[in-house]
Amino acid sequence: TVPVIAIDGPSASGKGTVAQRVAQRLGWHYLDSGAIYRLAALAAIQKGVALTDEPALAKLARHLDISFAHNHIYLDGETVDDAVRAEETGNAASAIATLPALRAALLDRQRAFRQAPGLVADGRDMASVVFTDAKTKIYLTATAEIRAQRRYRQLLEKGLLEQADNAIFDRILQDIRDRDARDSARTVAPLQQSTDAALLDTTELGIDEAVNQVLALHHR
Ligand code: C5P
Repeated sequence: TVPVIAIDGPSASGKGTVAQRVAQRLGWHYLDSGAIYRLAALAAIQKGVALTDEPALAKLARHLDISFAHNHIYLDGETVDDAVRAEETGNAASAIATLPALRAALLDRQRAFRQAPGLVADGRDMASVVFTDAKTKIYLTATAEIRAQRRYRQLLEKGLLEQADNAIFDRILQDIRDRDARDSARTVAPLQQSTDAALLDTTELGIDEAVNQVLALHHR
């Protein structure tokens, strides 16, 4: 069977960047499962499906027309990179992610990414639900304050903030805490460290160090 490295963790923990770099170093495929939940949420918003209508959302999820190619994300043939990354889309994704039928409808789609020579999968339930037989399982996290700081710095670096703004930092931190609470409190596939996953706390680690530690855990 094709080997999998499962990397789970909370919002803004850096797992996306780390998982992508690990995939690059190994020459493996990469699955951003959060993007799939975000695409389902975006499709629901675009098509006017209520974020609480579980059967309709499950049906929509089974028929989603999505693709990841040349560093772009497509929904119904259109690039939707910015819309997928938007904060509202993340919140909508986290809302529909509480619905068991929606999660079930996305399982096969996620598992289809498992292709030779290997897959690095990033999400919340990669180790506990989607790839329970993953060779390497990692729970990557950092304190909420550090995650908020990283997000905030990205906004500054991208020129999206005119100047340092404490109110915006506070809101980012609050959003991160709310998202953590919602993702951990749900009854299906709650965000938590799988008992067989190694803990990697990146509060005091740079990206390169985190990538090296994941590779070391993998080659162990
Ligand atoms: O990781 P990202 O912020 O893109 O994920 C958006 C939302 O999708 C998360 O807050 C979470 O509720 C949901 N999600 C999930 N299971 C995954 C990946 C994401 O429930 N494997």
